[in-house]
Amino acid sequence: DLDRELALAWLRTAAAAVERQHEELTALDAAIGDGDHGSNLRRGFAAVVAAVDALDADATPGTVLGKAGSTLISKVGGASGPLYGSALRVAGAALPAPTADLTALAEALRAGLGAVQKLGGAAVGDKTMIDAFEPAVAALERAAFDGFTLREASALAAEAAEAGARATIPLQARKGRASYLGPRSVGHQDPGATSTALLFRALAEAVT
Ligand code: ADP
Ligand code: MG
Ligand code: MG
Repeated sequence: DLDRELALAWLRTAAAAVERQHEELTALDAAIGDGDHGSNLRRGFAAVVAAVDALDADATPGTVLGKAGSTLISKVGGASGPLYGSALRVAGAALPAPTADLTALAEALRAGLGAVQKLGGAAVGDKTMIDAFEPAVAALERAAFDGFTLREASALAAEAAEAGARATIPLQARKGRASYLGPRSVGHQDPGATSTALLFRALAEAVT
């Protein structure tokens, strides 16, 4: 189940992965955006780790994720800060208990995805983080329905997110800065979908 320790481990693993891969994320954003996605997330997740480390020992997983969300909103100026920040805040608000099972986690992340869609107006196929986020949440929901463990479910979600990110390559962007390029956005993997896949991979790695 998702408890405070796993929520913290997820965010720390995510921060370490962003630290390792920020140059790749920035290179993807340089191709179809303004070349700051890796540095945005690097700055944001460093602040997230500091903020959640300072929380009380009685924090719930929801408090941890909510704090991560508000930190991203305040520290990241780009589109991805408010979008990821809102997702984490809304998901966190849906997890008030000390531990959450897979069904509760899937529901919370579905609500977080809804917040991104409400704020950004993007749907699957628009070549954004939604293209990785939606299939990952759907994989968690299926896995919960099928009675899988969180460990199995998070591995399936990471694979689904990675497949979703790869599937953005042939798409033309319809939201975000990349949409300004029109057909020239085709042939490049979306940076936000790539970082979403990294975040779901971090969850799978943190679940041991
Ligand atoms: P900015 O574009 O402001 O520089 P980032 O580079 O940090 O911000 O993030 C860019 C990513 O944000 C894109 O690759 C895309 O996945 C995501 N994104 C941008 N606009 C939207 C939107 N309206 N809905 C969902 N995701 C979006
Ligand atoms: Mg950018
Ligand atoms: Mg920017």
